[in-house]
Amino acid sequence: MVKINSRLYELQRKELFSNIEKRVKKFKLKNPDKKLVSLGIGDVSKPIIKPVTTAMHKAVDDLSSMKTFRGYGAYYGDDFLKTKILENDYKGFGFTKDELYVSCGTKTDSTSILELFDIDAKICIPNPMYPIYKDGGTALNRTFCEMDLFEEKNFVPDVPKEKYDLIYLCSPNNPIGTAYTYNELGKLVDYAIENECVILYDNVYASFITSNDVPHSIYEIPGAEKAAIEFRSYSKNASFTGVRCSYYIIPEGIHKDANSLWQERTINRFNGADYIAQRGAEAVYLEESQRLIKENIKYYLDNTLYLRNAFLDLGFKVWGGLDSPFIWVKTKGDMNSWDFFETMLEELNIVVIPGTIFGSNGDKYLRISGLGLKEDSEEAVGRLKNYEKNF
Ligand code: PLP
Repeated sequence: MVKINSRLYELQRKELFSNIEKRVKKFKLKNPDKKLVSLGIGDVSKPIIKPVTTAMHKAVDDLSSMKTFRGYGAYYGDDFLKTKILENDYKGFGFTKDELYVSCGTKTDSTSILELFDIDAKICIPNPMYPIYKDGGTALNRTFCEMDLFEEKNFVPDVPKEKYDLIYLCSPNNPIGTAYTYNELGKLVDYAIENECVILYDNVYASFITSNDVPHSIYEIPGAEKAAIEFRSYSKNASFTGVRCSYYIIPEGIHKDANSLWQERTINRFNGADYIAQRGAEAVYLEESQRLIKENIKYYLDNTLYLRNAFLDLGFKVWGGLDSPFIWVKTKGDMNSWDFFETMLEELNIVVIPGTIFGSNGDKYLRISGLGLKEDSEEAVGRLKNYEKNF
């Protein structure tokens, strides 16, 4: 029999989002009359705004005319979109189009970037953390070191004592729901510069930042242009979860050959982002789009704040929710996160995400999301407040 990638077996464990889906499906089959509400949703609930869908309609029309038809696009992003990204998201940073890559989702980008680095690169991932970096990297046959995050330190990573080649960071964070301040991120960037390490910085929730002391890009930290690759996506700000368009910066300062080699690699591995999606992404930068996006983000953040206050009122310990659409809630008593998940599902018919999905250090926590509908949050909170057994 042919030999397959044996590392893939490492992905067959209980702590997976797909197992939550399976468990919820089983519950629904057994209890067809019960109304489930989800506080676990990682997807957005608001539709794509009109100026963006109008631009996408126009792009579809372009494709149906001989004069405007487009086939394969630019391998690492069309100029019209790159111009907008550099003028808006990276204004004043001095990056060029050769350092910017348009792609089809940060989930893919944040792990496929490992192909830029040596197979033996020492990679550090905080625990708990968005699990895709580790699972995606495992499929690429990489191994990882874990950096424990502690409640007492508000889950902010310490400056590592060891030397790593790559460190994954995510801010604003999924699952904790907090974001690093200039000061906190500054220390990690200084470490990276001193240790010739590269920070792989997932910034897909940048639009949710409300605190003044939180940078909107890692490149606001002096020297980060020599020590960080930043990933962003239109998934959460512009509801592109079903459309797929993302981008990332590989600064020249990382390594003199990084971009020339990565461009060759990309030509061979990717045929460019979708034209319709890129035209939609271009329209995200219109003034009217920005106004509507701010309204949507406010809706999600208000919802997150409502959930944060409700869990605090119920006597839970809570983190996050001010700069990210997630809160991180500590379970009560001896319950671990799967026990809590089961109780919420079976007794209150509420879906939450067990923290252990994000790493072993998440075993006493739950991730709650504000990306769902306000009425679902209200329904869930009502059930929690009326729960006679109390937590
Ligand atoms: N990064 C983080 C931290 C996320 O939470 C998510 C989605 O939930 C992604 C990346 C995926 O982004 P995309 O839809 O661009 O693949």
